[in-house]
Amino acid sequence: MSVKSYSDSVSKVWPLFTNVDVDYGEDIFLYDRQGKKFIDFTSGIGVTNTGHCHPRVVNAIKEQSEKLLHGQTTILYNSMIDELANSIIKILPDELNCVFFSNSGSEAVESAIKLVRHATGKPNIICFQGGYHGRSIGALSLTTAKSVYRSGYQPLMSGVFVSPHPYFKQHSDENSEQRVKQCLDELDHILNTQTSPDETAAMIMEPILGEGGYIAPPKAFIQGVRDICDKHNILLIFDEIQTGFGRTGKYFAFEHFEIKPDILVIAKGIASGLPLSGIVANKKMMDKWITGSHGGTYAPNPLSIAAAIETIKILEEDNLVSNSEEIGEYLLNGLQKMKNEYPDIIDVRGKGLMIGCEFVEEDGLPGTFIAEKVRENCLSKGLILLTCGPYNQVIRWIPPLTTKKSDVDRSLSIFEKALKQTL
Ligand code: PLP
Repeated sequence: MSVKSYSDSVSKVWPLFTNVDVDYGEDIFLYDRQGKKFIDFTSGIGVTNTGHCHPRVVNAIKEQSEKLLHGQTTILYNSMIDELANSIIKILPDELNCVFFSNSGSEAVESAIKLVRHATGKPNIICFQGGYHGRSIGALSLTTAKSVYRSGYQPLMSGVFVSPHPYFKQHSDENSEQRVKQCLDELDHILNTQTSPDETAAMIMEPILGEGGYIAPPKAFIQGVRDICDKHNILLIFDEIQTGFGRTGKYFAFEHFEIKPDILVIAKGIASGLPLSGIVANKKMMDKWITGSHGGTYAPNPLSIAAAIETIKILEEDNLVSNSEEIGEYLLNGLQKMKNEYPDIIDVRGKGLMIGCEFVEEDGLPGTFIAEKVRENCLSKGLILLTCGPYNQVIRWIPPLTTKKSDVDRSLSIFEKALKQTL
């Protein structure tokens, strides 16, 4: 399928994956300007957890838009910000009890970097191989998911050290226990040689790799990282920008690993499509931040706050987090059955409605070409999916949390037709 491109008056730096000239969205569906209907199982890259244009969210935005579009938060108090912060900390452990808002995921990661440096007086940060934390210079410095993101932008932020993730060598013969031990030993080594505990403010990780390939590491790895942080008095930041707000069948993915981060980075699913992000940490740490030393003109925008307050209510009242768990399992089972029939699928994995289906070429190389072809064939049949992974060899399924079993059946039938057409 040929991909329509924007005119020369629009920068081409952002890749365009489809030729869908999108007109409007409704729950799990998008419609193009010719009226063609698509199932959107990208959720706008994990954003529209309540589906496109949920009527309650639309209504909240409409009502807010007639009252106030911009309320500069350093000049004016707005009680809606208190309301939203309280509804976020209500779904989090007691220690995570103070929120700072921003607009995009990358901005929130920048906030986390600045907070940990400020709070600890230490400069260095350890991140993990395959992680994606955004594209502003600070966030990009912590991002290693794909080389294209970094190349040409050096020098990046100093004081960043990259530690291995058990994901790499995933299909090797080593068992996961050995691999976890190696990765934790290596982390300890980096911490005590390349940097030092006295100079390391924090470690940052996605509890489940997003761009890096939709990989949940073994629980022992995440718990081991937590232990090393505790032993050396280092803060642990979880970037839950893609995994938050019910995406993985829990409100936040850290719940799967039975540990708590010191700082949680949130965005995407928080406001059903309006730009909003933030970090959540302990009030004592937040209070160390010198007033006026961080912030911006826009965040949090009143429309985004209204959308987020309503989004969190919908997640709870419509049981969308448990739906994510139940429908996720149903989708995972369906894809696992296909894995048994198609040897080009080497792995199907996921938690909740964050599922990756990884392809491999006959010679064992990453199945980049197959994944791309299957994605294109799905698109021409009305199912929008995205790829991820260092070689784009994984098709990721990120359906809205409103998805029903019948929607999964329909999408799996399209996916199987696309597989047959490709393989
Ligand atoms: N962190 C993670 C885990 C993400 O998935 C993303 C975006 O995909 C970001 C950070 C960056 O967010 P944004 O694109 O809003 O800057």
